[in-house]
Amino acid sequence: MDNPFDKEYIETCKVELQAHGAGAAAAKINAYLKELDDIQLNIAITGETGSGKSTFVNAFRGIDNMDERAAPTGYKETTMDVHSYPHPNFPNVTLWDLPGIGTTKFPADQYLQRVGFERFDFFIIVSADRFRENDVMIAKAIRDMKKRFYFVRSKIDQDIANTKISQREFNAQKTLADIRNDCIQALEKHHVESPQVFLVSSFDLQLYDFHLLEETLERELPEHKRDTLLLALPNFNLGIIKKKKEALQSKISFRAAPERIAAEKKAVVRSVSERWRLKEECLKKQFLQPVKRETPSPG
Ligand code: GDP
Repeated sequence: MDNPFDKEYIETCKVELQAHGAGAAAAKINAYLKELDDIQLNIAITGETGSGKSTFVNAFRGIDNMDERAAPTGYKETTMDVHSYPHPNFPNVTLWDLPGIGTTKFPADQYLQRVGFERFDFFIIVSADRFRENDVMIAKAIRDMKKRFYFVRSKIDQDIANTKISQREFNAQKTLADIRNDCIQALEKHHVESPQVFLVSSFDLQLYDFHLLEETLERELPEHKRDTLLLALPNFNLGIIKKKKEALQSKISFRAAPERIAAEKKAVVRSVSERWRLKEECLKKQFLQPVKRETPSPG
């Protein structure tokens, strides 16, 4: 198992097994598994109205905009309301659709206080265009609160389609590089150092940079939250399916541990009772079989 959190627990369970037996070790493992299921991951999505936040929230949770559990898309925000959208299969993972800071008229630090920034593991700042003053203000305030943030430049499929129509010598890689550089330069101009910008189409996460965003989040999250993120992500390519398989395999072997311990215990009991049975048979043979009397020799 790669997760050191697991290794630590396995050691604790071994100690428990030696000190208090199989039942106590199994109870420890079950408590640990419950702890894993309860790890909370809260992801904040912010950006101006129409930037594609709600569509991103839905895509991240693996549901489309028509799904009844979907965040409503294409409507005008007018309030400071924060909407939470739990993952359909992993209720411990929640995406939070935050209003754009421009909607609220609050300075960035007050905005963060009002949305309850402490609860969020990280922020994703979405823009359908080059990042603007509001995005920079919010990024700096998030940094001051010692939280992580990532920039998502959305609707890339639209940019590609538009460029394809308007340029005689269309080159997709060059178009993507131009968009990325443009975003990074705009942010650096406003003193956001080494901004992490990911080009995404929420209509098709397997295209462009979503896999890079996933890898970055996985790398930068605290270790014990990585599998929580991994398992909740949509299956957008083969790589993510493989990673999920590995995460699940390690979970399954841990989940099977109490039964394994119980089976081992039974086997020990069986072998002890088997030994007793054989011993008993031996004793029976020795003492209960009719004693052959020596027939006195004639004469
Ligand atoms: P919000 O106001 O920031 O929550 O933005 P929405 O998610 O409601 O999106 C606004 C509009 O942009 C909707 O009509 C979406 O269908 C569209 N949209 C959002 N993301 C994408 C995308 O990745 N590609 C395309 N082509 N359209 C998108």
